[in-house]
Amino acid sequence: MAYEPAKTRYSQMKYNRCGNSGLMLPAVSLGLWHNFGYVDDFKVATDIITSAFDLGVTHFDLANNYGPPPGSAETNFGKVLKKELAGYRDELIISTKAGYTMWDGPYGDWGSKKYLVSSLDQSLKRMGLDYVDIFYSHRYDPNTPMEETMGALDLIVRQGKALYAGVSNYGPEQTEQAIAILNKLGTPLLINQPKYSMFERAPEKGLIDVLGRENVGCIPFSPLAQGMLTNKYLKGIPTDSRAGKVHGFLKVDQVTPDKLEKITNLNELAKTRNQTLALMALAWILKDSRITTVLIGASSVKQLEDSLGCLENTTFSADELLQIDGIIG
Ligand code: NDP
Repeated sequence: MAYEPAKTRYSQMKYNRCGNSGLMLPAVSLGLWHNFGYVDDFKVATDIITSAFDLGVTHFDLANNYGPPPGSAETNFGKVLKKELAGYRDELIISTKAGYTMWDGPYGDWGSKKYLVSSLDQSLKRMGLDYVDIFYSHRYDPNTPMEETMGALDLIVRQGKALYAGVSNYGPEQTEQAIAILNKLGTPLLINQPKYSMFERAPEKGLIDVLGRENVGCIPFSPLAQGMLTNKYLKGIPTDSRAGKVHGFLKVDQVTPDKLEKITNLNELAKTRNQTLALMALAWILKDSRITTVLIGASSVKQLEDSLGCLENTTFSADELLQIDGIIG
């Protein structure tokens, strides 16, 4: 049977304004870093994407290097766009990025105008798109003038190959610099994509304050610390988990006894809130009004559906927050 999007798709999701822009993003967005490459089951990947759309998740986040192999997540997503999601482009916010190693030689990495412009052209071809909604500089490049990297984002937006400009993995000072340059160029920074979870607290040391003050959106990635902030590793490493797969970015040795003890204690605290640990970890990100949307991953439709339950309770008492910080240490 041909896929038909659910008529109810906008009835439950919450949409938040992204900084000072006209763009609304769903409170939960879906990333295609893992589980959407050629190594993965394409039927499962397709089902996750269409189920997300059915549940009001309008934002899909990609990058040139997602796979494996690099590029294959974009190609697979392009297939879904062409078939299941054909006719729905205007209901979707699609992002991609360039900044990490993509091809051989000096023009396939970091933040030069040469790399960003050519990479986006390749991404557009792989996805079969004329434009993406958000194009990111995937990481700060200390060896390229920030004016050049931001100039590339401005050029890309002016060419109509992206509607908005974003940065990812930029610290607070780098973000302030990017905001200033982009403002001068007339293409304001839409959003920053940092790694942020109960385990990864760096954005609390200035970045979120900068984004709040400048009214720029914030889309934290790996909110579940790649799956560690769930109950899945409490009884060992499941073979079908990210840490259990050879191509998973999460390695077994990152699931340390110290982390497991914290996960166990967080799991107990989550129970007192009538949430699973996964839901508490996602809700914990969304408790801050400066966060536009939380960027999740999922290896099954069930996980995706489950994770969206975080929207039911995103408030924490001062005591719960203290307990979380006490457990994390
Ligand atoms: P998460 O921290 O949300 O981890 C996702 C993983 O957690 C899933 O693959 C699954 O692991 C597990 N999981 C998800 N939901 C549940 C659930 N309800 N119950 C139990 N387990 C669950 O995010 P990701 O690390 O996947 O990152 C999300 C997105 O962020 C990426 O797809 C990408 O778009 C973006 N990103 C950006 C980066 C950047 O540099 N800008 C870097 C990394 C990510 P399992 O597979 O084991 O089942």
